[in-house]
Amino acid sequence: MAEQRDIVIAGGGMVGISLALELGRVLPAATRITLVEGFALPPPADRVPDYHPSFDARSTALGYGSQLIYRDMGLWPALQRWLCPITTIHVSSRGHFGSTLLRAADYGWQALGHVVENPWLGQALLHALREQGRVELLNPAKVVAATPVSGGVELALDGAAPSRVQAALLVVADGADSGLRQRLGVSSSEKPYRQHALICNVATAQPHAGCAFERFTDEGPLALLPLLPAAGAGNRSALVWTLPPERAEQLLACADREFLAALQQRFGYRLGRLLQVGSRQSYPLALRHCEEQVRSGVVVMGNAAHALHPVAGQGFNLALRDIAALGRVLASAAAAGESPGALSVLQRYREQQRADQRRTIQFSDRLPALFMHADPMLALARDLALSGLDWAAPLKRAFVEHAAGLEALRG
Ligand SMILES: Cc1cc2nc3c(=O)[nH]c(=O)nc-3n(C[C@H](O)[C@H](O)[C@H](O)COP(=O)(O)OP(=O)(O)OC[C@H]3O[C@@H](n4cnc5c(N)ncnc54)[C@H](O)[C@@H]3O)c2cc1C
Repeated sequence: MAEQRDIVIAGGGMVGISLALELGRVLPAATRITLVEGFALPPPADRVPDYHPSFDARSTALGYGSQLIYRDMGLWPALQRWLCPITTIHVSSRGHFGSTLLRAADYGWQALGHVVENPWLGQALLHALREQGRVELLNPAKVVAATPVSGGVELALDGAAPSRVQAALLVVADGADSGLRQRLGVSSSEKPYRQHALICNVATAQPHAGCAFERFTDEGPLALLPLLPAAGAGNRSALVWTLPPERAEQLLACADREFLAALQQRFGYRLGRLLQVGSRQSYPLALRHCEEQVRSGVVVMGNAAHALHPVAGQGFNLALRDIAALGRVLASAAAAGESPGALSVLQRYREQQRADQRRTIQFSDRLPALFMHADPMLALARDLALSGLDWAAPLKRAFVEHAAGLEALRG
């Protein structure tokens, strides 16, 4: 006999754990919530957690909208010590005259966003989940089969007791290559960018002073995000460098000195000499999108629902807005005595997030393409637009608010 649960979340990456925390907070104590994560989660400890696919060496830029969501969830104070505020964003285009500076102060904000290293965000989320004690955590364990049945979905689990669970709602949050989405026959579209994102941390001679750099080059965009100081490196920034796959492989394999010289040549000297580089990783980039995100008893979330180009740092921020919206919908469904897996309930969530998802996907899809265009007239128009941002305050404000995720929060 399968054991009964109300909600099972398959996948405990940054999205699965954030959702578990939010549902544990907003749903009545009687709602039985289980989180299943395949990879062994790091034990509770105040140190850099072991490698975890979701909490790897990357950093995440959290927009102002995400700050508001984590504040509502009561997580923001615990995150503070790991956050580096972004007070300005310098947007420029290599080989062209256009550039613009976005300043938090111009909008009356203290920061345009905050950068957090994924291992620390993961550690804070896990700690909060264990403290909250509301969600059953099955780990390491995998959901290996999902079969729709009357009143929900029956799941087979590998590595956990119970090995069979029936849930009113299955949340598929198992990442961009979602095996569960495929097993359920939920189709998704994929548009490969034929680019890789090379990521690493670099130490620089000059302090970043809270400035994030977004530099568009003919090979692809390059972002340097400000990080907090660490032992042995006072001035640190996180690099996300989008490159053709062969070039990314070459830069992944070359010696540190060669890598730093290539980056210096592309980025310039705005942070002085580049002194040191940490371990490098690269990710193939594609826009993946799943149109059918809800079915009776099933909702697809996070990268399994939409995996975006990292250029504008939108993927996780969008997923957090989805999480907040699903929490609100499921809380009012619970108050009305509706099942969390009822199709009408899940469709309400889908309708609420449809426009935000469409806008955010278009924004992150068009931005890199626009800046890599070979057409000189388009390049000129783009440069004028970038320079124009400096005097066209309302346009700049709209850009900043979109990037911060505020437009979406206002609905
Ligand atoms: C280079 C780069 C930079 C980025 N920078 C930013 C940024 O600055 N800001 C931003 O908002 N976003 C950013 N993103 C996007 C962000 O990283 C993603 O939105 C986020 O990682 C998605 O998390 P996820 O939990 O959906 O998926 P994943 O991180 O892939 O987690 C899925 C989890 O599911 C588990 N799993 C898989 N199968 C099963 C199963 N069958 N049963 C149980 N568990 C299973 C896996 O072990 C894994 O832990 C960036 C992405 C990249 C590539």
